[in-house]
Amino acid sequence: MAQFIDVILPLPLTATFTYKLPAPLAQQVAVGSRVIVPFGKSKVYSALVVRIHDEEPTEYKIKEVQSLIDERPVVLPQQLKLWQWIADYYLCSVGEVYKAALPGVMKDEVKRSFKPLTKTCVRLHDLYLDEEMLTVLTATLRRSTRQLALLERYLDLAQARAAIRLHNEALLVEVDKADLTQNDPNSSTALRTMVSKGIFQVYEQTVSRLSSSDLPEELKIHTLSDAQQGAFDGILRSFEQKNVCLLHGVTSSGKTEVYIHLIKHMIDSGRQVLYLLPEIVLTTQLVDRLRRVFGDRMGVYHSKYPEAERIEVWQKQLSDTPYDIIIGVRSSVFLPFQRLGLVIVDEEHETSFKQAEPAPRYHARNVALVLAHMSGAKSLLGTATPSLETYHNAQAGKYAMVCLHERYRQIQLPAIEVVDMNEQYRKKLTWGPLSDPLYNEMRRALDGHEQIILFQNRRGYAPTIECTTCGWTPRCTCCDVSLTYHKVLHQLTCHYCGHTFQLPQKCPNCENTQIKSHGYGTERIEDEIQTLFPEARIARMDLDTTRTRTSYEGILSDFQHGRTDILVGTQMVTKGLDFQRVSVVGILNADTMLNMPDFRAYERAFQMLSQVAGRAGRHGRQGRVYLQTRNADLPVVAQVVSNDYPSMYSDQMDERKLFSYPPFSHLVYVYMKHRDERLLDALARDMARVMTQVFGPRVLGPDAPPVSRIQSMYIRKIVLKVEAGASLADMRQRLRQIEQHVLSQTAYKSATVYFDVDPY
Ligand code: ADP
Ligand code: ZN
Ligand code: ZN
Repeated sequence: MAQFIDVILPLPLTATFTYKLPAPLAQQVAVGSRVIVPFGKSKVYSALVVRIHDEEPTEYKIKEVQSLIDERPVVLPQQLKLWQWIADYYLCSVGEVYKAALPGVMKDEVKRSFKPLTKTCVRLHDLYLDEEMLTVLTATLRRSTRQLALLERYLDLAQARAAIRLHNEALLVEVDKADLTQNDPNSSTALRTMVSKGIFQVYEQTVSRLSSSDLPEELKIHTLSDAQQGAFDGILRSFEQKNVCLLHGVTSSGKTEVYIHLIKHMIDSGRQVLYLLPEIVLTTQLVDRLRRVFGDRMGVYHSKYPEAERIEVWQKQLSDTPYDIIIGVRSSVFLPFQRLGLVIVDEEHETSFKQAEPAPRYHARNVALVLAHMSGAKSLLGTATPSLETYHNAQAGKYAMVCLHERYRQIQLPAIEVVDMNEQYRKKLTWGPLSDPLYNEMRRALDGHEQIILFQNRRGYAPTIECTTCGWTPRCTCCDVSLTYHKVLHQLTCHYCGHTFQLPQKCPNCENTQIKSHGYGTERIEDEIQTLFPEARIARMDLDTTRTRTSYEGILSDFQHGRTDILVGTQMVTKGLDFQRVSVVGILNADTMLNMPDFRAYERAFQMLSQVAGRAGRHGRQGRVYLQTRNADLPVVAQVVSNDYPSMYSDQMDERKLFSYPPFSHLVYVYMKHRDERLLDALARDMARVMTQVFGPRVLGPDAPPVSRIQSMYIRKIVLKVEAGASLADMRQRLRQIEQHVLSQTAYKSATVYFDVDPY
């Protein structure tokens, strides 16, 4: 008789915990269900059952399960297996994976089953769905103007006159109460009166959040071009030999069309597909395109969607009729799949697939590959600019590779012109942030009613402000960074902790009142472009203008429908967007990317610059790209211009090999945090010493990272570089032991230590 269960708590604790089951629950509980358990002195958690047994623990006093949340498991055994893999590989606790995986309400809230959304609707009593009766009613309401107006409004909204004339009630359109009364108190009063007279009836209507009501009738799928068909066949053929295939296709070659055909092929054979995208690439534009083909066989999983919607998707995946296709972001690798056949990772090079904070610090592409492997599914990685790791695997024969070299309809790739900004400044040719050739091309494009994208990889107005006399610059009080000036807010903001500060009237150092801003953020670009082109309609897309899903979609939709002429934005504008009329792309300052102190800087710059250039001229004539830089002679710039991925790859691989960086090694960063800097330094030194005893010269540091204090916590970092081929399992186990050993000293109890495996 089973009396005990082992559970995972949503906490950074590696152990599982054992609880006693009260007799009435013993029959109902299952592995993968959640239970409510007490923990510590006063806390209560929803914990996940991973084992049911009858071994009473002897070393501590056992507590009892309070109640059962799920009568049926919400997590499948194969998910637990994947979560355990993630915890092992990324050196975190499975509780942290559990916490990240389950949408909030499922995890924390106790016994509150999820209620479907309802809306309140209004209908006219059947009696009046008759021309004569309606005339009578109108006559009796003659003196009550409000009620009469409400009736008229209802008849309009419900399109009732036509329905009455044609004697067909089915033609009535459902009327939302809020639409009818427009939330006007007088209308609401009138409605109440009319309901009491039996004229109107009010009723509740359930609406599925995953509404399929506005699906187009006809499901459409495009015919593939010859090149695309070749890629499609090639991918399927490669799957006979290999589990993973790289689809290397230039921007606008129609990779999405190839995915659609593969998805169809897969679901026709009864398997499920996971289509994974970076957050900002999963747009309404793309979802609509897939909806037209797959209708409600497809579910969307997005971290910006309300929690309730995500729970509904999760539940449906557990049901007997799960979605055949999930299109989703990073976290959709945690969803339950019952018969997964294919995983597609689009824009596989995207760094945002790696979660930086909090744990699990996982790479969704790599987790997706493991998920596919565990499910016996195939994987397709698609991109125009593969990550070096992926391309390396393809070169080594570990992955298959299929290429699409031409754009759909043979539209030419954009012509990229490099503009030497040193020369532009020297000859005084610039127009604010614009070089002379870009300025002229923008004029021409606007005259021809074409659209323009301007890319600047910094938000805010000015990245730094400075006292003109003494050089003082404001810094965050909690972080080791200078503040960014936001003009609209008239505030200084810390981009690390979000703290805002007033702009000082005068320099706190020397009392000088002249404080100048330096450099360009997107906000300032927008300002100055508006001055240069007063007639142009300009929109800005960056973190500050896209806090909500609707604001983001709004900006995109305006641009797509030609309601704006110029879109100014951060890397958000480089991603997967497909616009009809963009003929000019301006990269205003490539140097912020080229000068990054990171071994991946050139790889990233190549990817980002090629992607943003790829937004130009997708339809119609060839697009023009202006790449403004003070580093016009760098080889990577020439490689972008000639779209020469193989040269970039071979240059970068030489360097990586020389310095033994990935993919020739694995990196693990060990981070340590504490409020007390001296204590932290002592801990960091101890940690590095013990690590060096174990790993020898593979250990570098400790160092203070470029931003060495965030939110009042000091930070230190140790780098562990493990050569490819060494046993990672062994390395991980030793790291855990070292962590335990060092942290067992009482002085370090309050310190935070965590690992970032394969950091980005
Ligand atoms: P990629 O994902 O490679 O950048 P897309 O799949 O977005 O390219 O295709 C670019 C444009 O070409 C899209 O507007 C798409 O609808 C169109 N397109 C591509 N292939 C086809 C096809 N076979 N039939 C019709 N339109 C296509
Ligand atoms: Zn000063
Ligand atoms: Zn800060």
